[in-house]
Amino acid sequence: MNELQKKDLKYIWHPCSQMKDYETLPPIIIERGNGVYLYDNEGKEYIDIVSSWWCNLLGHCNPKINEYIKNQLDSLEHVIFANFSHEPAIQLCEELSKIIPSGLKKFNFSDNGSAAVECALKMAFQYQYQTGNTKKTKFMCLTEGYHGETIGALSVGSMDLYAKIYKPMLMDTIHIEAPECYRCPYGKCRDNCQCECFEDAKKKFEKYADSVCAMIVEPLLQGSAGMRIYPPLYLKKLRSLCDKYNVLLIADEIATGFGRTGKMFAFDHAEVSPDIMCISKGLTGGYMPMAITITTDEIYNAFYADYNEGKAFMHSHTYSGNPLGCSAALAVQKILREDNILENASQNAVYLHNKLTNALKEHKNVGEIRHIGLINAIELVEDKTSKAGFDSKLRIGYQIYKKALEYGLILRPLGNVLYFNPPLIINKEEIDRSVDICTRAINDILSC
Ligand SMILES: *Cc1c(COP(=O)(O)O)cnc(C)c1O
Repeated sequence: MNELQKKDLKYIWHPCSQMKDYETLPPIIIERGNGVYLYDNEGKEYIDIVSSWWCNLLGHCNPKINEYIKNQLDSLEHVIFANFSHEPAIQLCEELSKIIPSGLKKFNFSDNGSAAVECALKMAFQYQYQTGNTKKTKFMCLTEGYHGETIGALSVGSMDLYAKIYKPMLMDTIHIEAPECYRCPYGKCRDNCQCECFEDAKKKFEKYADSVCAMIVEPLLQGSAGMRIYPPLYLKKLRSLCDKYNVLLIADEIATGFGRTGKMFAFDHAEVSPDIMCISKGLTGGYMPMAITITTDEIYNAFYADYNEGKAFMHSHTYSGNPLGCSAALAVQKILREDNILENASQNAVYLHNKLTNALKEHKNVGEIRHIGLINAIELVEDKTSKAGFDSKLRIGYQIYKKALEYGLILRPLGNVLYFNPPLIINKEEIDRSVDICTRAINDILSC
């Protein structure tokens, strides 16, 4: 351990970590970044294949984003957003209006994904209350969902890993069995099913919808659950069911937004719109903490009244609408528009998936390599026929992660699932290197 690493451990409690692990794998001190690469203070190079927790969209130190932020910095760094505004925020909403699912019109700013989810939940609850549905107080969500780690967001999440210990603190929510396409209980596969698994949603809506104000989903991709991918038809069906029972549909597009799934938003695949959409992560290209909860005129209008009716949405965050975040987001929009980012990414997505499949599909422990957009997830199993997973105590994913780090690839796993979720600007050569390192690391730990 070098001096800086020792000092780090003296002061810093890192997120989502058993700090004791850092005795054997000390924090890697990153000095600079460039494109998909990060460099530590000893000059070692790493490919950031997880986009620094899925937020880096267009590479590190992107010259255009840097320029936009620097320009903004010289005129205004921040201003109170109640009763005040600024051009970057206004322009950004105008730009986003052109690319978001139709019907979404009003933008409520916050500063991280969990906050955007909390905002959506409160908005949905208050909308129902103010339109006379005072009994609609609960939320529905999918099992294995993840929506952030504040108390409200944890309540509509269902991953024991994050939520179990806090259960006594959480809201009572209704969980619908999520699609599990790799181990489909109906024996179907993703591209030829009718979402037979939607049955549980129907049952739960019938039983509980009278008490439910909204349903929240991670569209098409349950990220933290291990990049579980399900078909767009499920969202279409959910849209009809929500309409039938007057339940608002909240899209958590925090991980899926801005081209991650091959289209601008995951909901675009299903050709339906949610009532409320949360975006964050890729919004500023991974530069600044910013999030937006976007909703329809119908919902907005239920809050619009004379002050003394008490219908306003009394919800705020100090850094709402931060101008530096907005300017970064404006640069991202300009690049997405002008540099054919999504077109290039979808070509490279085909290349990446073929490459990974050729390298790994015969491996005895590779159960499935599923993909959407540039996202590819490798589910490791003990036995391919039974699809039985490894005991989580073996920490197979973590061991492979450590090997890959040695070789210069940041392959941070989700349990027994390894995944690629690279910046959209990754090129073929960088893909080749990443697949090569990933394959070597897997073979080192699980010899083939
Ligand atoms: C990351 C994430 C969140 C939480 O965002 P934070 O900024 O980490 O609070 C919520 N939902 C999804 C789907 C995410 O991937």
